[in-house]
Amino acid sequence: MTKPIYLDYHSTTPVDPRVLDTMLPYFTERFGNPASRQHAYGWAAQEAVETARSQVAALIGATAGEIVFTSGASESNNLAIKGGTCALRAKGDHIVTVATEHKSILDCFKRLQPEGWHVTFLPVDRDGVISLDELRAAITDRTVMVSAMAANNEIGTIQPLAAIGAIASERGVLFHTDAAQAVGKIPLDVKAMNVDLLSLTAHKFYGPKGAGALFIRRRKPRIELACQIDGGGHENGFRSGTLNVPGIVGLGAAAEICRTNMDSEQARLGSLRDRLLDLLRHDLDGIHVNGPTGERRLPHNLHASFAGVEGERLLMALGDLAVSTGSACSSGSQAASHVLEAIGAAAIPGASIRFGLGRMTTEQEIEIAAARVIKVVRSLRGDPVSA
Ligand SMILES: *Cc1c(COP(=O)(O)O)cnc(C)c1O
Repeated sequence: MTKPIYLDYHSTTPVDPRVLDTMLPYFTERFGNPASRQHAYGWAAQEAVETARSQVAALIGATAGEIVFTSGASESNNLAIKGGTCALRAKGDHIVTVATEHKSILDCFKRLQPEGWHVTFLPVDRDGVISLDELRAAITDRTVMVSAMAANNEIGTIQPLAAIGAIASERGVLFHTDAAQAVGKIPLDVKAMNVDLLSLTAHKFYGPKGAGALFIRRRKPRIELACQIDGGGHENGFRSGTLNVPGIVGLGAAAEICRTNMDSEQARLGSLRDRLLDLLRHDLDGIHVNGPTGERRLPHNLHASFAGVEGERLLMALGDLAVSTGSACSSGSQAASHVLEAIGAAAIPGASIRFGLGRMTTEQEIEIAAARVIKVVRSLRGDPVSA
């Protein structure tokens, strides 16, 4: 049995073999606890963690001291939003976010609303982009934070981060971005974009699962957060708990590879993604692309609806392709995704598929995948079988 072709890189990515090699010694001979300051085992671990901190910082234009290691983007989002709002309670009671955010953001706000926080969910246009005028209008003197994702995990929309950051900084509110899908894929610069808090996770860019980070700006302004995990005061008191050294080493190595290969990798994936769509369109009518085209879209993302076919049946028939109908993070639920809802695509008839391409995707895989989708869609539509 051959393995299904993996086109679900927005859900997770395999660990790059170079990343794994870098990690391995930190499970065994270099197993020390970086908090052990009295001996060489601790020092070696500490040094590796600090190298990773610099590697992560370099990828997003931060300084090493602004990186706090966490277990992933969900935890980073929780720390940014709960920790940020808690620290700013005296200043206001209002947060602005976007309708298409990841569940780990939306659920934080659900938790905060009963505590008296007011949340504005900015709508998006058909491409999934917010309106800067609506953002400006939403910010009041009670607003303490804007949280807007860098790139959407379903339809690949890239928000205008620099413009959002400029507005937030001008109005004196914190700007947090969930950049889980953007880090390592598109250039990000927290200083140029006026980002105060940025969440990232290693397993979305060829690092291990369970390792992530939160960028917390230290200067102009220095951001205060209420710690969410109390204990030994690790990570400058922002996040207690013995560090996941192998995971952090992997996060750093993955960041380094992305930083040096980003341009060529994304150019390659962009043309493979375009080829996939060309192949599908060549042989099928009734394809609707959800989300933006061009620069506003992650180059490795395609999200398309196929008229005249039913979602579950399509996925079942595509058993030899590992793709997703929406966001894997809420898989199991049959409801139309809140992202498609928000861009007005929930009513588009037919089944939608998210294709996420990645580092290990080959041209041959794209050709096989396109042929499979064409064949299955035709047969589900009851089209006459072609030769
Ligand atoms: C994957 C993802 C997360 C969650 O990251 P974990 O490391 O799995 O917790 C959060 N936000 C976005 C946009 C994601 O794609």
